[in-house]
Amino acid sequence: MRRFQTIALTTAAAVAATGAAAWALHDRPAALTDGTGQSCDQVDHGTDADAAKAVTGLTSGTRSALDAARKAATRAGLTLTVNSGYRSAAYQQRVYDCWVKQTGSAQAARQHALPPSESAHVAGFAIDVAPPAAATWLEHSKGGYGLCRRYGNEPWHFEYQASYKADGCPALLSHP
Ligand SMILES: [Zn+2]
Repeated sequence: MRRFQTIALTTAAAVAATGAAAWALHDRPAALTDGTGQSCDQVDHGTDADAAKAVTGLTSGTRSALDAARKAATRAGLTLTVNSGYRSAAYQQRVYDCWVKQTGSAQAARQHALPPSESAHVAGFAIDVAPPAAATWLEHSKGGYGLCRRYGNEPWHFEYQASYKADGCPALLSHP
């Protein structure tokens, strides 16, 4: 299986600067790895076709919000990239199945990835942001671009709702 491949919105140099691996390793028990010794969130479960749709497959509202946030991040001296955006149901199923195998149960897997029918990535309004500094910057925007962090255990995962712009972000949930 391929190593996790960052989908950059800007330059190849930005890809090299992302901290996705450091994040993934942060508090993951070493035993929780697949057969290759990597945690499910360090494995690229997508195909090249999936990668091509990562941004174009997002809802138009999400794409507009991402574009505005990315431009503002650039003005703040940060390069905001998207590690994962839209996912097909088949792609999300591979992610979910990996976590089921890795954690040993569907219930435990759900703390890391939801089944396709419940996934905001499949619905096209979720993005996983890198590097960590850009995600922190985006979180501090408090929904000003319509993008809010949603989960305590996923500092990279943001979801778009038009209402966030006016109402701010809802309280974090501990996990998916
Ligand atoms: Zn996510």
